[in-house]
Amino acid sequence: MRTLFLPVSVFVFAMAMASSAAQSPDLGGVKVSWNRYNGPATFTATNSESFKLRVQVDRQGEAQPLTLRVELPNTGRNAWPANDVEVRDEAGAALLVQRSGIEWEKLLLPLPENVNSFVVQAVEPPGGWPKSTSEKDRGIQDAASGARVRIANWPHRRIAALSIRFDDSHPTHLSKAIPILREYGFKGTFMVNPGPKEPGSRQNFSFETQHAEWEAVMKQGDMELANHSAHHRGARSDAEMELEIGSAAEAIWKLTPGRSKLMALNLGGGTRWETSRTLRYYLDKYHQFDASSGSLGMDDSYGGRVEAFRKALTSHLERGLWCRMHYHYIGDGLSSSEANFRAALDIAKQHQDKLWIAGMADIYKYQTERNASKLAIVKTDERSLTFQLAVATDAKIYDQPLTLEMEAPADWKSRQVVMLDPQGAQIPSDADGSLRFEVPPRSSTFVIRVAP
Ligand SMILES: [Zn+2]
Repeated sequence: MRTLFLPVSVFVFAMAMASSAAQSPDLGGVKVSWNRYNGPATFTATNSESFKLRVQVDRQGEAQPLTLRVELPNTGRNAWPANDVEVRDEAGAALLVQRSGIEWEKLLLPLPENVNSFVVQAVEPPGGWPKSTSEKDRGIQDAASGARVRIANWPHRRIAALSIRFDDSHPTHLSKAIPILREYGFKGTFMVNPGPKEPGSRQNFSFETQHAEWEAVMKQGDMELANHSAHHRGARSDAEMELEIGSAAEAIWKLTPGRSKLMALNLGGGTRWETSRTLRYYLDKYHQFDASSGSLGMDDSYGGRVEAFRKALTSHLERGLWCRMHYHYIGDGLSSSEANFRAALDIAKQHQDKLWIAGMADIYKYQTERNASKLAIVKTDERSLTFQLAVATDAKIYDQPLTLEMEAPADWKSRQVVMLDPQGAQIPSDADGSLRFEVPPRSSTFVIRVAP
């Protein structure tokens, strides 16, 4: 749960200040400035409530169109939930806002002629702000025996996660990336642009021209697809945005019948999107999750990528976090050479026993389910522990199994410990002999019992 109390403040930008005073700590890290404008018009920005910025424009006779730039802090204590932000005029009508595909916290507001006053605000999503359970909620201990059970940070004995992403549905994903990933036994996430070729466009994505090959990959079931929008060219209206996200999602669902509809969405760098709606609206409507930030770009042009990945992976392993990396085209003379691609995969391989290398949706599901889960003791005796797992996510969409790990009390240690599902069937423990059990991500009651 986010709680934020911003100081009440007023910040007036006169023409002369517009460029120099773009950063205003008084607005809780929010920056407001004119976009490419040097004229008499001024504006006043105030934030009297959290995640609510009121802006008043004084045109001072200015007749040309005006555009304001609003940048919301996306990290730290004052971070705004950028995906939930919309802009409304005095009458409550939502205004069209322009954003870059991967920086939803930066808003460009072309002001309609009759609008001089508006509010930039985060709106609470229909299901409420995401609330995470605590570490304490996710573990139980029987005071008498000392037996403990907790929901593992990551599946089985993995201590961190890694996703390997490929953007723009390039032919080398089929010819190079997938065969090489299969050599290593790794799963990749392919951010595809499934839209048909448009007249006048130079874009040519392999998803359309090599549809049968992509279909075969998805039949094999060892790779994941994600949404990179239909055409990688942005959208200029709510309807177009709906099509760019919705038709791409539909095309992917067609190749994954019967599977969870959840997928990663990244609208693509260098694209511009104009919508009056929050990104959350589209995410929720199409079962997408935002995957636009926090990933290490692996294009050779950035330099020293293999070492950068080694460093990133080490730090994610140390902190037990999800490490994300992404590629464009694989092959010599392309964005990443095959040698560099293999060198990074070799590093991942060295850590394979501790690292969950999986699709982005798999990892996102595990994280989300775990953050929505609690354990509670139902009853105990000397030889058994009955407990309830409560999972708040929808098991149709969030279907990644959870791992429960048990620490047996000292006097149970030499004896056989079994875990039973609600039907009384034994759940196999991990093959490494540890007391880890994989369970479906839905609310149920389990029994752990030790042999006499
Ligand atoms: Zn892209």
